[in-house]
Amino acid sequence: MKRLTSRTGLFLLFSLLAVASLAGVALASGGVATGGGTGTGGGGGGGGGKDYAFPIRAKHTYGDGIGAGRGHQGQDILANCRKNIVAARSGRVRYVDYQASGAGNYAVIKGKKYDYVYMHMINKPSVKKGERVDAGEKIGKVGSTGRSSACHLHFEMWRKPGWYRGGRLTNPKPFLKRWDRG
Ligand SMILES: [Zn+2]
Repeated sequence: MKRLTSRTGLFLLFSLLAVASLAGVALASGGVATGGGTGTGGGGGGGGGKDYAFPIRAKHTYGDGIGAGRGHQGQDILANCRKNIVAARSGRVRYVDYQASGAGNYAVIKGKKYDYVYMHMINKPSVKKGERVDAGEKIGKVGSTGRSSACHLHFEMWRKPGWYRGGRLTNPKPFLKRWDRG
């Protein structure tokens, strides 16, 4: 009897641990996941199955974040000029444009829940307005066009309805850190 109860106790403990670790995993992945149904979907992710990618495929460091300086609305990621920039999340290209006084060569990609903005590319982005892009697909190269003093990617995220459409600015850093871990 005594033996039985201690075994039962052990079993309960294990069950609790299992539940706790499962919950932990769910919490960890739920933190920045856009939540439900983000799979690469119908077309199937040709890019290795992941539905996210860190936007720079090269050595990089984090620069100014949201609120650094006046009105900084994104996260800067410093990397060497001409390194590839890829789409962090899949979506449809909403804008491709050039703004000398600010964004330089930039692209805005409309994802499921957010608009993703990539600025200061060295040349015109390699994607076109209306085009569908997968996470991990190349969209341009790191540069320093517009208001920028060194090669870097300025990355913004705006909640629906999106960038300059009344969407709310979101701090992209936690997302970037997660994508960075692969
Ligand atoms: Zn910036």
